[in-house]
Amino acid sequence: MDEFSIADVLAEVAVLVKPHFGKGRPADYIPQLASVPPGKFGMAVRLVSGEEAVVGDADEGFSVQSITKIFSLGLALNRFGDEVWTRVGKEPSGTPFNHLSQLEAEEGVPRNPFINAGAMAICDQLMDVFKDPPALVRGFAGFLAGEKAEIDEAVAASELANAWQNRAIANLMRGKGTINHDPEAVVAAYCRQCALTMSCRQLARAMLPLAAGGFSPIVEETIFPERLTRRLNALLLTCGIYDSVGSFAYRVGLPAKSGVGGGIVAIVPGKAAIAVWSPALDRFGTSVVGTVALERFTQLTNCSVL
Ligand code: GLU
Repeated sequence: MDEFSIADVLAEVAVLVKPHFGKGRPADYIPQLASVPPGKFGMAVRLVSGEEAVVGDADEGFSVQSITKIFSLGLALNRFGDEVWTRVGKEPSGTPFNHLSQLEAEEGVPRNPFINAGAMAICDQLMDVFKDPPALVRGFAGFLAGEKAEIDEAVAASELANAWQNRAIANLMRGKGTINHDPEAVVAAYCRQCALTMSCRQLARAMLPLAAGGFSPIVEETIFPERLTRRLNALLLTCGIYDSVGSFAYRVGLPAKSGVGGGIVAIVPGKAAIAVWSPALDRFGTSVVGTVALERFTQLTNCSVL
């Protein structure tokens, strides 16, 4: 990838995505997200070698939502190791991110740590030893980005006021013994974690350890062991885009995670971390323009892992 001018590629991508604005719509089940202008578009690429390029609204903060599940899973795996896998599985779900019936059929064990049930199980596990998991996630994300990240309390409150489906999931898991804490406290912590605000530039920097064998060139520290880094990327590739993970792999071919704020992060192992944001979502909850941008980026640079 070093043979390309990443800035030129991003400029080209910004032109190529234009016909796709107007498709999809921002998440409205979290009322605070419904008012984000759907025409926003930003993208940032940070190479392991140090180069960084951005285009569009790449420095504007947006609601990171499910992308925070990478930070919480990384923290849990670093703290608890394989014990994490007694609470959640490693399989693609094939169902929407907030699905319930599969959870009931599988005795309350979420299919993977990236669907809502799995992320709440991880949150509960972090609550066993940490007083304030959302603050921990915020601190970790900010540390990795090299600058402070904030939780948008209005977004957190807006989601919590409407989190009926997530409450059902947490209560079911409490009944089955997957989580130990008060379901309401777990849902509240989960909503606050999801309400983290970051920009594309910050996210690309924060995700860099996943592209650099676990090392962060930003903070010059090893964040994850190399084997764990490979495993996190495997989970992203197979479970990061919910029930459209197959078509996303077909189109983009990179380990990635979407969030209903319209952000997507993608990893080019050994080479780069990419973050893209555009709020209008497809029916699976993934940014329409963000997916097209990543598809065009991998086509132009030949950087897909598949
Ligand atoms: N906070 C969101 C929810 O629980 C996260 C979903 C997402 O970003 O995919 O519905």
